[in-house]
Amino acid sequence: GVKESIKMNQLVDEYVRLAYHGLRAKDKTFNASLETDYDKTIETVNIVPQDIGRVVLNLITNAFYAVSERKKTESSDYKPTVWTTTTKEGNTIKIQVKDNGMGMPKAIREKIFQPFFTTKPTGQGTGLGLSLSYDIIKAHGGDLSVSSEVNKGTEFIISIPSTNS
Ligand code: ADP
Ligand code: MG
Repeated sequence: GVKESIKMNQLVDEYVRLAYHGLRAKDKTFNASLETDYDKTIETVNIVPQDIGRVVLNLITNAFYAVSERKKTESSDYKPTVWTTTTKEGNTIKIQVKDNGMGMPKAIREKIFQPFFTTKPTGQGTGLGLSLSYDIIKAHGGDLSVSSEVNKGTEFIISIPSTNS
């Protein structure tokens, strides 16, 4: 892909909504909430838009899967929620995708960036989403980090430099 000067918030929002509406259309019982908060001081960023879009799509899809898994074991007052926020700190743009889903124990968290690693039932996951996402973010000179707690949730943070020609 070719890097272009892209309005970051707009791109993130487009892909977040694509994921959300796609999952809703596929699963009629889907009822998770989506919350977004974008830092309006973020302007254009030099990125490969389809690639960053794919990363956002991967993270959001994983997050909605995690909340629907947790929902199976929770009482009715559990509110499955996915938060997407963008922030700017100096020359670093951060895209945070957070969920209050099933979370991951350390032993799983250590393997999630390996190609073909999945805990999903056969046919439901390729295990390629996060390894591909990691490579894409590295190719942008950035970083992809994760923190997670079992039965509390997970947070992925994409960091990319705003000037990375
Ligand atoms: P896939 O979605 O096909 O399983 P990924 O590379 O996207 O492959 O993710 C690998 C694994 O990482 C998942 O199977 C799951 O175990 C774990 N994982 C990823 N995102 C989350 C999340 N938000 N909450 C809990 N576990 C997650
Ligand atoms: Mg995935």
